[in-house]
Amino acid sequence: MPIKGRFMNGTIVPIIAGNWKMNGLIEQLAEISNLDNMLEQMQHKAGHIIICPPATLLNMAKKCAKYGQISFGGQNCHWEERGAHTGDISAEMLADCGALYVILGHSERRMEHGETDEIVQKKVGAAFRAKLTPIICVGESEKERKANMAVEKVLSQIKNSLPSEAKNNKIIIAYEPIWAIGTGLVPTLDEIKEMHQKIREQLVNLFGEHGMQYPILYGGSMKPDNAKNILSIKNVNGGLVGGASLKTSEFIKIIKALDEI
Ligand code: PEP
Repeated sequence: MPIKGRFMNGTIVPIIAGNWKMNGLIEQLAEISNLDNMLEQMQHKAGHIIICPPATLLNMAKKCAKYGQISFGGQNCHWEERGAHTGDISAEMLADCGALYVILGHSERRMEHGETDEIVQKKVGAAFRAKLTPIICVGESEKERKANMAVEKVLSQIKNSLPSEAKNNKIIIAYEPIWAIGTGLVPTLDEIKEMHQKIREQLVNLFGEHGMQYPILYGGSMKPDNAKNILSIKNVNGGLVGGASLKTSEFIKIIKALDEI
């Protein structure tokens, strides 16, 4: 895929990923077909578009994207391949439904389901086993930001949530300050720049030159009116978008921001 704009000489293809969370019934699949149609008509080539719908819609969503302009991902997986884990979904099951990606360690799972870095690390291993690319979320709380602990927290989450096999696999990091998710609050551009730079350095510390290849997404109240500024920051290789990904009319504006950079 030819890549336009400031990424032309780099190797990282920008990514805009939508996280639908626990939203979406069958009727919302029309949003997927609309988006796929629009991307086809625009001949969109500035980045890679991913939607992570609820697992119940994954298989149908893939079929709705008949032009193949969208890739799909799950929002979580178990670390085991199969077995007595009522209510859980394995990475292999997501792949079987057409997923290429899986969001892991989202702050809502870390907080609501007690997912530790250790658990996230096991899930990342499961994603590799099923040939899924994990989108690994990290981010500080408001308290940690105020106590000047944000960088320390995020770098330790990266160190402890990634297995050593990450070196030989594709991974995507999503920096999502917890206090910015779904709140309309966003860090300053300088704060985002600083954090993404530190994350890049940490990835290089851990994985050598491979660390230069991993996309680092920003997530947390990314909207059409702030997307261009955020996506223009060095080491911001795209966005993980929650609320604004549910309506194609909003999400497409964020995608189009890639063309303006
Ligand atoms: C998210 O939960 O991944 C997210 C970024 O949400 P929002 O865009 O709604 O803040």
